[in-house]
Amino acid sequence: MPDYMFLLESRLLPEQRAALLRVQELSAALGYNIYLTGGTVRDLITGASLRDLDFTVEGNPSKIARELEKGGAKVLVEDEKLRHVEILFAGDCEGSIAAARDDHYVRPGTKPELRWSTIMEDLRRRDFSLNAIAISLNPASRGLLLDPTNGLSDIERAEVRALTIHSFTNQPVRLLRVLRFAARMGFKLEQRTQEWFDLAIERDLLHTITEEDAGAELRSLAREENPAATLKSWEEHDLLETVHAVLAKKHPDYDAINRLNKVRDDLFMAGLRPRLATPMMLAILGRLKDNEQKSLLGKLGFRVAEVETIMEFDGETTAAAKELSGKKMAAPIDAYRFLEKMPTEQIAYIMAFSSNSGAVSKIRAYLNKWRPMRQGVTAVANELTAIGMPAGPKFDGIVQQVFAMQLTGRGKTPEEREKILRKLSGIKEQPKPKETKGKDKKAAKAALKPGAIAGKAHAPAAKPAPAAATKGAKPAAAKPKKPAKKKKK
Ligand code: ATP
Ligand code: MG
Repeated sequence: MPDYMFLLESRLLPEQRAALLRVQELSAALGYNIYLTGGTVRDLITGASLRDLDFTVEGNPSKIARELEKGGAKVLVEDEKLRHVEILFAGDCEGSIAAARDDHYVRPGTKPELRWSTIMEDLRRRDFSLNAIAISLNPASRGLLLDPTNGLSDIERAEVRALTIHSFTNQPVRLLRVLRFAARMGFKLEQRTQEWFDLAIERDLLHTITEEDAGAELRSLAREENPAATLKSWEEHDLLETVHAVLAKKHPDYDAINRLNKVRDDLFMAGLRPRLATPMMLAILGRLKDNEQKSLLGKLGFRVAEVETIMEFDGETTAAAKELSGKKMAAPIDAYRFLEKMPTEQIAYIMAFSSNSGAVSKIRAYLNKWRPMRQGVTAVANELTAIGMPAGPKFDGIVQQVFAMQLTGRGKTPEEREKILRKLSGIKEQPKPKETKGKDKKAAKAALKPGAIAGKAHAPAAKPAPAAATKGAKPAAAKPKKPAKKKKK
């Protein structure tokens, strides 16, 4: 058995790892069995990026959520009836914790009865085999893979397989989901699943998808890296109609989606991890008028706060771009500080769609020059220590001042920086010892012998320090330029 725990830990971001450990600890303390499930395990196995952490607990997730909140996590949505919590873990990492449950259908297509269950039953009630795999996080079986429906082999065959003949009848939203997973992963529908899918379409089941379910799919879609493939697949199968008639008629704005995706790559190259749900939703709905967008979101069950966030995003971002290109941000250091606080979603939106060229060029400088330059700040601090500046607020202030100067193109070489650092700190260079000859040489040697005046003996010894540190700083100071060069290639 491959070591899934090792695979998982090596793939998680540090904040995700911290969240996982905390959830694991809390569950153990509460005496619950807990598992990583659904999309997280599927993405782990297929090598896709792990956007969120989905946990399933044999117990009550609210109890875990209350403890997590104490550590700074934010509960985004809590459905007490379904025992499902959407959560933003400390460190801004998304995820969910749900109680293990079985959906019991009295007859196919009726509303299921909920029953709290074990993990195995929970996995069997899921939509597709590739989503029905779990990894145990429990002390005695940590890392054990649970795959009761043989999802691993379907992943190997690159197929999406529904788990029962009633799959689409029980939950018609799975018609949208099956195409979403197939398009996103480049998989095909397993043969019988395809037959069940065709039958469901024939029986017009797609018109029974609830608006709320369709809305949830659209919301998930906007969080994906490339929603275009799924949208095209929905259009080909006449399914976009069921999401929204106006969207189907006017079509998604594929150009806008492509532009945003290109920007996502640029941001990624610059070391940022953009989550672009809001701008992506606006890109998808780009051909609709504002009032059409608003009514679509309301109809599809988006919460009031969500609708507001989406509808106000363009105005807020345009205002931020204006401020960025304004007079107050003329000094690069001010623009840098402003951009450091700007949400990545806004940065991406400006890059993709703004006609404010001043703001766009500042963002480009920020990504390709200023951020890499910031990494050189450690070298500046070392150089300042080397000339004898003690740590403290003045020290920090000088480092920041030098960084601000570097943003304007000054202090590129170590020599230039030493001059600046000396000027700002007021630490003068030690005078060089005079050339000594003959008798004087003897006298100088005697003065340097142990036991001679302490201050004088130390002075020459302290001298090489700046030189050595400056030498060492050279490659570090030159470093920031590299990513910018790479980018040009
Ligand atoms: P994504 O990466 O898009 O979030 P996901 O697989 O995590 O994909 P979610 O909608 O977040 O999808 O659902 C989490 C899990 O819950 C799924 O992996 C699946 O196991 C289960 N699930 C979601 N919707 C259904 C459904 N309609 N029927 C059965 N199981 C479902
Ligand atoms: Mg998910």
